[in-house]
Amino acid sequence: MIDLHAHTSASDGSDTPAELIGNAVAAGVHTLAITDHDTTAGWNEAIAAVEQLEVAFTLIRGTEFSCIHDSDGVRISLHLLGYLFDPEAEALKAERARMRESRLGRGEAIVDALVAAGYPISWQQVIDIAGGGAVGRPHIGQALMQAGVVDSVTDAFAHLLSSSSPYYVPKREMPVQLAIELIRQAGGVPVIAHPWARKRGRILDEAALRSLVEPGLLGIEVDHPDHEAADRARLAELSAELGLFCTGSSDYHGTRKAVRLGAETTSPQSLQRLIGLATGIDVVRSEPARKAG
Ligand code: AMP
Ligand code: ZN
Ligand code: FE
Ligand code: FE
Repeated sequence: MIDLHAHTSASDGSDTPAELIGNAVAAGVHTLAITDHDTTAGWNEAIAAVEQLEVAFTLIRGTEFSCIHDSDGVRISLHLLGYLFDPEAEALKAERARMRESRLGRGEAIVDALVAAGYPISWQQVIDIAGGGAVGRPHIGQALMQAGVVDSVTDAFAHLLSSSSPYYVPKREMPVQLAIELIRQAGGVPVIAHPWARKRGRILDEAALRSLVEPGLLGIEVDHPDHEAADRARLAELSAELGLFCTGSSDYHGTRKAVRLGAETTSPQSLQRLIGLATGIDVVRSEPARKAG
């Protein structure tokens, strides 16, 4: 199975990068992308884990970028996956740093608002849960769970952490057209993540999606746990029409979300397109044969 979207403790997943690789193998996933929010911090640990494997495995290094689409003042938050880009490309690297920095102030502001409303959590607790990873709402959700306020991180998102909650504070986001251009400049492959995950808030319409082809979008994440069947069908048609490839991915977050690795998968054909379009960095393959010999 090929799964091209997974999070680790470098952002808001609960597995360390090494644990993610082990869990992928156990789940029957032989090609996996590590795509933490706004960071490449998990990459090296993931590479080290892949190098130890005694089964065939391919690691795709990527990042999920926090972006904004602004059309005549209508602002829609969205996520853009970038695969196999050069992590040293300066403009994109600087943007990742700014977005991670913004996550700190914004996370603290959300916690302050929750504390002011009487919820028994603290910023220090959230920082400890994040353990140095890019801070996100799922970490605050876990603090709320530890405090007995909610039963799960998903429950926390139903009200307290949702984007329509009175405690919601936005974070820094890159204009999506700029993010696409910077990923391409870094030799990477931009793929729009879960574009029609309707329950998360406003989504891009077809015209807005089409408009991303010109700046250089190359793929659409069609099969995603948050996509309904009819939307998947329409997105697949749209990608064919626009000459984009389709991916399918779990968006695994370990224990912070109820989805398992390999719950959604990408075709070998799409994987080949993705790899063929990348000029930034290579995929990382395990070498079980060498070990056996
Ligand atoms: P943030 O990056 O801090 O804005 O938080 C967004 C993250 O929360 C994304 O990675 C989502 O995967 C995660 N998320 C969004 N909605 C939910 C939900 N209903 N349950 C669990 N995690 C969610
Ligand atoms: Zn996440
Ligand atoms: Fe996402
Ligand atoms: Fe994600």
